[in-house]
Amino acid sequence: MQIITDPAEMQAIAENFRLQRQRIGVVMTMGALHDGHLSLVRLAQKKAGIVIMTIFVNPTQFGPGEDFERYPRPFEQDAALARSAGVDYLFAPAPEQMYPEGYSTSIDPGPMANRFEGSFRPGHFSGVATVVIKLLNITRPHLAVFGEKDAQQLSVIRRVVRDLNIGTIIEGAPISRENDGLATSSRNIYLSADEREHATVLYHAIQHAQQETEKGRRDLGAIAGEAESIIDSVPGTKRDYLCFVDEDTFETAETAIPEKAYRFIMAVRVGSTRLIDNWRYVCGGGNDEC
Ligand code: AMP
Repeated sequence: MQIITDPAEMQAIAENFRLQRQRIGVVMTMGALHDGHLSLVRLAQKKAGIVIMTIFVNPTQFGPGEDFERYPRPFEQDAALARSAGVDYLFAPAPEQMYPEGYSTSIDPGPMANRFEGSFRPGHFSGVATVVIKLLNITRPHLAVFGEKDAQQLSVIRRVVRDLNIGTIIEGAPISRENDGLATSSRNIYLSADEREHATVLYHAIQHAQQETEKGRRDLGAIAGEAESIIDSVPGTKRDYLCFVDEDTFETAETAIPEKAYRFIMAVRVGSTRLIDNWRYVCGGGNDEC
């Protein structure tokens, strides 16, 4: 595995693989790698001959008071994990290489970027969309794999890539979870032992929604209300949002319509750690009688 830090060098390598008609897949991360990231690598390896992983803690997607400074950066450990996972190139630029003096461009992904995560983290999705487009232009991939863990991010990226005719295939990868259901996350290390236990309530809320929709219920607003009570029953938790949304627009959905895809999304603070999770629900797509 080669480690590259210079964007121009990475771009030249990628362009060369393209000329050799090699298929390139990219997995973009902020490092502090865990099983979730590695499952994205495995999916990329199934679909592409050359896999590039990027590690970049992107300053423009963090708001004031967020954890940019203290975000974990165990680079040596990450590089070892990426190497043993069979990553071909690790692209890890410094912030100054991505945003040199005079840098001034940003992408506005439109209304979806202002809902839910976007309303709690103003400017977040503009920062994400801009860095993703930059990293796509640098790594020139045929496909890019993103985790469904960040469902709104995935929908925003699909929107931007479609709107700007980028042409890269965007693959969603299933959420990787710990044994007790907690979604794997680089931020889980912030949780104390008690908080770690309390954090399983996000998955319990998802299980409730799964069970109720399987019974054929379509009253998504009411189911979300019940899930809110489940979260609120656990000490030290505070909901930022929890509801069903239309998967394409991220508009709130109150009643399920057959064949449509929804996301049951939530952001919950457990102590001072903010966790997000979600579940994809297609009305009539599973065992339900929708
Ligand atoms: P991050 O390093 O948190 O920016 O995440 C990098 C990529 O890994 C994003 O596409 C995430 O959605 C994905 N990811 C993070 N956690 C998980 C998880 N538990 N399961 C699947 N994908 C994940």
